[in-house]
Amino acid sequence: MHDVVSAFVVSQGEELLTGLTMDTNAHFLCEVLTRAGLRVLGARTAGDDRDAIAATLVDAARTADVVLCTGGLGPTEDDLTAESVVEAFGGELELNDLAWDQVKARYARIGRTMSPANRKQALLPVGCDVLENLMGTAPGFAVNTSSTRMYFLPGVPREMKEMIGRLVLDDIATRFDLVAPLRHTFRVMGRGESQLQEQLGSLGTRFPGVQLGFRTKMPENHVKLVAAPGEANWESAKAWVREELGDNCFTEDPDEELAAVVGRMLVDRGERVALAESCTGGWVAHLFVSEPGSSRWLERGWVTYSNESKTEEVGVPEGVIAENGAVSEEVARAMAEGCRAHAPVDWGVGITGVAGPTGGSPDKPVGTVWIAIAGPSGTHARKLRLGRDRTANRRFSAFIAVEMLRRQILRLNAG
Ligand code: AMP
Ligand code: MG
Repeated sequence: MHDVVSAFVVSQGEELLTGLTMDTNAHFLCEVLTRAGLRVLGARTAGDDRDAIAATLVDAARTADVVLCTGGLGPTEDDLTAESVVEAFGGELELNDLAWDQVKARYARIGRTMSPANRKQALLPVGCDVLENLMGTAPGFAVNTSSTRMYFLPGVPREMKEMIGRLVLDDIATRFDLVAPLRHTFRVMGRGESQLQEQLGSLGTRFPGVQLGFRTKMPENHVKLVAAPGEANWESAKAWVREELGDNCFTEDPDEELAAVVGRMLVDRGERVALAESCTGGWVAHLFVSEPGSSRWLERGWVTYSNESKTEEVGVPEGVIAENGAVSEEVARAMAEGCRAHAPVDWGVGITGVAGPTGGSPDKPVGTVWIAIAGPSGTHARKLRLGRDRTANRRFSAFIAVEMLRRQILRLNAG
């Protein structure tokens, strides 16, 4: 058995400490390093202060085999990473010819004139390895300390990610013996974490060597299996979980969204959907349109927010609204069925609710949402009782609507 290769992530930038910028780099790096088989032992942020950066780098190098640091490679005075590296580990900065050529070539390519400050971007520690940046001006670099391979990458996420994929992961793999664990993800709708724990908790005793983990991404839950490479129980553990979850699992591809799954199901049937959304304000349309190829299954969507629009666009009878109120099963059903009547589709989705935080009443409190799905075999409606958070209510309702559509298609597919 090999020793697991350890990693530490350092994010550099005052904007991360003041809350101006969300540290998405650390999140990204933790994920790709873990997938590659490294064990991330920690992540830390340093502001634009040379001593603080140097101290963080020294700690990181003491802790892990591999350190990835992002940010602070720009041309401005607050970009201090290269200086901090020589403060932390000794050595000097010099104008690196290769990096300087890359900076100049980049400017020539994009047809911009350089300013004297750009020279600073090529001032790198003597003896470092230059990492070319194809999407921006600041080259990255890598150094070896006595114990650790350290990579320094630009803060701009797009540039950093491209360099990780093209240069860094391969460089790590040539220097260390990586053993990526076996991983499998089941994405689940309709079961809470505690239900999943109860249902699947015996996995570890049934299949020793396979670890079970959960992650909630409301309203989804993800069930994760992890095992050492070559684990003999791996396939049977996956098969058991698959059987237990049944239709509650909508995909085993960790990157596939619920909307993509439903889109694929509709395309397989040669059917399309239209949407009449009130409280979700187009969120279901957004979920669908976020998936490539959505024109094959999304025909149109209306944001029928006012009572009048519900009547004018999808034909909800005025009397139905007057009698039951806009947030009611009857109106949701009429919206869904109206989609089918007013657009050339097989499926209609109607959503109406009180998103909050104000506007509730005793019999229709904030968070009351009615969703209806009209399809080839009739209309199915469901009431949700959500909380007081407007955004959460809207998002949750949109996902539940997509999930209800999935269930209706599954039912038809089952015959
Ligand atoms: P820098 O390389 O420090 O000049 O950073 C360039 C830009 O990248 C900053 O203005 C931020 O918008 C962005 N950035 C830097 N660090 C991060 C990070 N950890 N996560 C997300 N964006 C970042
Ligand atoms: Mg910075």
